[in-house]
Amino acid sequence: MTTTATDWRARAAALPLPAHAFLDGEPFVGTGERLAATSPLRTGALAELPLCDEREVDAAVAAARRAFDGGAWSQAGPRERKRVMHAFVDLLAAHREELALLITLETGKAIRDALREIDSAGRELRFFAEAVDKVYGDVVPTPPEAFGYSAREPVGVVAAVTPWNFPVMMPVYKLGPALAAGNSVVLKPAEESSLAGVRLVELGAEAGLPDGVLNAVTGSGEVTGRALGLHPDVDVVTFTGSTAVGKLFLRYAGESNMKSVWLECGGKSPQIVLADAPDLERAAAFVAEGIFHGAGEVCNAGSRLIVEEGIHDDFVELVVRESASWAPGDPLDEATVVGPLVDRTQFERVVDYIGVGRAEGAVVATGGGPAAVELGVEPTVLTGVDPAMRVAREEIFGPVLATIGTAADDVAAVANDSIFGLAAGVWTSDVRRAHRLARELDAGSVYVNTYDRGENSLPFGGYKQSGIGVDRSLHAFEKYTRLKTVWFDLS
Ligand code: NAD
Repeated sequence: MTTTATDWRARAAALPLPAHAFLDGEPFVGTGERLAATSPLRTGALAELPLCDEREVDAAVAAARRAFDGGAWSQAGPRERKRVMHAFVDLLAAHREELALLITLETGKAIRDALREIDSAGRELRFFAEAVDKVYGDVVPTPPEAFGYSAREPVGVVAAVTPWNFPVMMPVYKLGPALAAGNSVVLKPAEESSLAGVRLVELGAEAGLPDGVLNAVTGSGEVTGRALGLHPDVDVVTFTGSTAVGKLFLRYAGESNMKSVWLECGGKSPQIVLADAPDLERAAAFVAEGIFHGAGEVCNAGSRLIVEEGIHDDFVELVVRESASWAPGDPLDEATVVGPLVDRTQFERVVDYIGVGRAEGAVVATGGGPAAVELGVEPTVLTGVDPAMRVAREEIFGPVLATIGTAADDVAAVANDSIFGLAAGVWTSDVRRAHRLARELDAGSVYVNTYDRGENSLPFGGYKQSGIGVDRSLHAFEKYTRLKTVWFDLS
């Protein structure tokens, strides 16, 4: 049964909102500066949270370290860790609507997508609960007078710094493998979506994570995020966000304790459509979904359409037609596919970029301005884009597709002409060509005759300035474990 927008609105009005961070198993209200939690759907602050300063970040890291050294989680047997992580997933499911509402309120994401985000975060966390006892070291061949093995050990204190666009999913990508491996975690959710992050961490504690194993520090990037990046007792930073801030974390590590830094950053992902695509109408539907889904506020949004010249005009027409079904609406209506952008700053940034594209000589084939809903932007298709233009090179993070027409032989070169390398899509019926392109494309994920599909057991990460390391799959454990070699002399 669908819930009406009026019902969702009533629930949103009655929703208790956290006004605290979460340290060492307890809510932390604090007495210092505050961070306002805001919403594109309301004027004024939703709630006020502590803006954790260096001292408070230090307290969170100290709690995480105590918990790690105490061993209640880091040394817990695999069955116990599994039990608690499965209980965590059950709580996520039990609080599905509450968490989804927090996401919609804070980010403007359509409620149906927010609900899907909770469901897929649950599947992701379940994968890592199941993986607790499936990642281990090796006993290696040695001469008879020796015995050598390698063991995987948790690293220690992990700082997870996350963006606002997937307020539950992005933290779960980090917490899942970090906790499964036995680490302690300090989460710093984005200032735009801290409420969902804090609730997630509280549910982890309720599920039975020992005090200090999972903490949330709320605050700004410049104060709270920086303090984590520079902290001498953080062993690992796992970050998702912009490339510019990712680079800052590399610098913080160099200036402090050489902590490992894993980065999932921005993108400008190409969707390549060749004239021999199996079904151009289907390709157009995917191309539109690839950029307009989530209002384009998605890291692997397919924001560049690279289309073979011979079909350019006809294909753009199909994409323009498809774009009509991605118009922003009321995010609390379950029929709405896309809500407004996250805030006025992001809205103005996206509208400015469309202006930049026009000034550079691109043509607006559809959209190009504010949508009927406050802070929404119309799905926009730019044509006549040259690969050198800013709208072809920079991440806009909004519903703007830059279309480049090119010869079939040049598609890989045009696609790879970017500082980013997060994802790429290819549409062709020629299996040899598809394999060749999958190999040639400089991207962490390549989708063939589809876009943005995956499984928990497949890694997700970026090449080039889109990142270092991967989330998802058993490969994610690389980030949260250290390999120890042990050699016994038996002679
Ligand atoms: P952002 O880089 O502005 O912020 C990300 C996090 O970093 C936030 O928690 C923020 O508080 C913190 N931060 C900001 N400035 C900081 C500083 N000076 N020092 C320390 N920490 C700081 O990114 P955003 O606007 O929240 O998210 C959008 C970006 O995230 C886009 O570039 C998008 O592509 C990227 N993203 C990437 C992936 C991926 O998997 N590759 C997934 C989602 C989003």
